[in-house]
Amino acid sequence: MRSHLLNGTTAERYRSSVTEGVERVAARLATASQPFTTASADGLAPRIDAVDLDEPLHDTRAALDELDELYLRGAVRAHHPRHLAHLHAPAVIPAVLGEAVLSATNSALGTWDQPAGAPLIERRVIDWTAERIGLGPAADGAFTDDGAHAELQALLLAREEAGDRDPATLRIFVSEAAHLGVRRTARLLGLGDDAVVTVPTDRSKRLQTVALARALERCARDDLSPMAVVATAGSADFGSIDPLPEIARLCAQYGTWLHVDAAYGCGLLASRRNRHLIDGIEHADSVSVDFHKAFFQPVGSAAVLVRDRALPDLRTGRRFDALKLWMTLRVMGANGIGDLFDEVCDLATRGWKTLVADPRFDVVTEPQLSTLVFRYIPAKICAPAAIDRANLYARKALFASGDAVVAGTRAGGRQYLRFTLLDPGTTTADIEAVLDLIAGHAEQYLGEHLDRAC
Ligand SMILES: *Cc1c(COP(=O)(O)O)cnc(C)c1O
Repeated sequence: MRSHLLNGTTAERYRSSVTEGVERVAARLATASQPFTTASADGLAPRIDAVDLDEPLHDTRAALDELDELYLRGAVRAHHPRHLAHLHAPAVIPAVLGEAVLSATNSALGTWDQPAGAPLIERRVIDWTAERIGLGPAADGAFTDDGAHAELQALLLAREEAGDRDPATLRIFVSEAAHLGVRRTARLLGLGDDAVVTVPTDRSKRLQTVALARALERCARDDLSPMAVVATAGSADFGSIDPLPEIARLCAQYGTWLHVDAAYGCGLLASRRNRHLIDGIEHADSVSVDFHKAFFQPVGSAAVLVRDRALPDLRTGRRFDALKLWMTLRVMGANGIGDLFDEVCDLATRGWKTLVADPRFDVVTEPQLSTLVFRYIPAKICAPAAIDRANLYARKALFASGDAVVAGTRAGGRQYLRFTLLDPGTTTADIEAVLDLIAGHAEQYLGEHLDRAC
């Protein structure tokens, strides 16, 4: 068994078993004709259950063959041009290379007696991010597995800042388009269900600052403590960006911690054309970013950045995830990443124009980032609930066919569909083709349920 350790084998055998895996994955991913194959989870479960984990295959190639059957063949392909569903980016190759290197070297960053380059590289990438945000010289930060943990760390600091105030009086303000994770975070912080105050959005799904001002005023009047405002720079559903400068002014006025959730909008930090859309982010006390969304990194790669304090990090087993972004910046540069993000945003704008011009669809709002929320509407008058079901049906039928993967969401109480465009390889023609497929499935549903539906 020692031969499975690097010091128990030869460099040549080590290299050949690693490259064999890489070649297998490359062949599978590069030849995928569909974003998803219909090998259903139902079919896989008994086969995965049947694997005897106490009976190893003792052969890398055989294990890869088995893995191909059980996983690779059926995995949803984030990099397929008709994978339009989630904030799930196709990973750029330099980052995948970084991932392989960090797994192979297996650095753990909790201690400084690790290879010195690793923590120094991590520090440079954190400083680079803080500089892009404009947080100033006292900024600190840390890599995290995901955006949820980044936000949790930030709000822990906000809670500390609130001192010994009665936790029952602490309030966190978010827009109604904010990520649902804020509620979970509040619970983890031991705050009550009343702690999260939802502020309405405007037609573009951006937080209404007039309503926020009123909510903060009410909070002060009721002797409650405005612990934090969580502004969203790119909502998961709509890509909407809250008016950061006005929110920052209100936070300064009320002495409230400003956290900016830039899990999605962080791609603009690298954009040459659209950085201005997140102007005001530099006033934040803390920012969370998901590099594994808008920086085209493999999951997990996220970070929390704070303006003016040292961020305690107690994890001795911290992964060297910074290496993925480092490799990306060294090979492609920030402009390379920003250009890719600009491309998907431009694609969304073209998709929006297509949707607006197409009477078969209703589209919620002009995209600020790379998200389109729309629904099929039939030419004849139908019950709203039937239209909801037709859209839901279209989404499921599309997924079952393996032709495309799209997301669903609700807006104004009704069922909508969502394209989250993160693959620069997606074209306007892909969007048009998928829209035709959606309309076809929805029409088929309404045709079959015509008597009851319309
Ligand atoms: C994805 C997302 C999150 C959560 O990030 P994870 O990395 O999935 O934990 C939070 N906020 C927004 C706006 C997001 O898009």
